[in-house]
Amino acid sequence: MNERKTVRWEGKGLHTGVSCAAEVAEGAFPGLRFAFRDGKTYRVEEALAVGDGRGSTLSFPNGITIRTVEHLLSALSGLGIWDAEIRVEGGEIPALDGSAEGFAEGLAPFVRHWGDRETRPFQIDAPITVRDPQRGASLAALPAASFGVSCVIDYPETWIGTQAYYRECLDRAVYRDEIAKARTFCLDSEIEALRSAGLGKGGDPGNTLVIGENGPLNREALAYPDGCVRHKVLDLIGDLALLGRPLLGHFLAFRSGHGLHLSLVSRLRRVLEDTKNENRA
Ligand SMILES: [Zn+2]
Repeated sequence: MNERKTVRWEGKGLHTGVSCAAEVAEGAFPGLRFAFRDGKTYRVEEALAVGDGRGSTLSFPNGITIRTVEHLLSALSGLGIWDAEIRVEGGEIPALDGSAEGFAEGLAPFVRHWGDRETRPFQIDAPITVRDPQRGASLAALPAASFGVSCVIDYPETWIGTQAYYRECLDRAVYRDEIAKARTFCLDSEIEALRSAGLGKGGDPGNTLVIGENGPLNREALAYPDGCVRHKVLDLIGDLALLGRPLLGHFLAFRSGHGLHLSLVSRLRRVLEDTKNENRA
């Protein structure tokens, strides 16, 4: 019998700062699954997802919580891998360099093999919008023939300013070339508040693009001139992967973040459930 292909990453968690590891193995069953030492496995759709403003945390029915899942899930989704078994040690997925590049590189050799098993996409049939009026943020899912994204971020009176990214068809090649290398970023002025909120304990210039008053303090971490908006797209793709299947639709994001991404995910999960029930009826 052939050994199942696996790939492993080790490092420290962006938020906990402690060492952790993640391993992805070829899926024995369909779906993106998290596997645990207690022998339980759950599909990613079964997890309760919470966005804390800086990352997405999953809580599984066995009570186990895993933080900062979005960059690994983004790489899986971006490469079109929908059958995989994920194991995590240390409660958080390693930060690596703050982008999805390391995950995408590790997963690349498996794409041809895994990509062969077709997962039925979720077609957005009617527009759905979620809003955060306090932050002036919104996120809409619109019907479209391919997976596409329009994303605008707006950080007035900072070096970031307004950045926009648009792709009608965001496929595997576009993901690898234009999205995967975009790193997590934060404003120099936010760091103290983040730390006192107990977040970003593992953040350092090697895994976070730090923006000072006049621009990046670690310019080598800026993979693209508009890397900040591209990282938002990377995060959005990772959060949408919590639906466990590819999407056919255009996602229109304005100043959105994990909280709003996850509100949309729960709305879409309900649509999926209703469709399943209708099909059963
Ligand atoms: Zn991120």
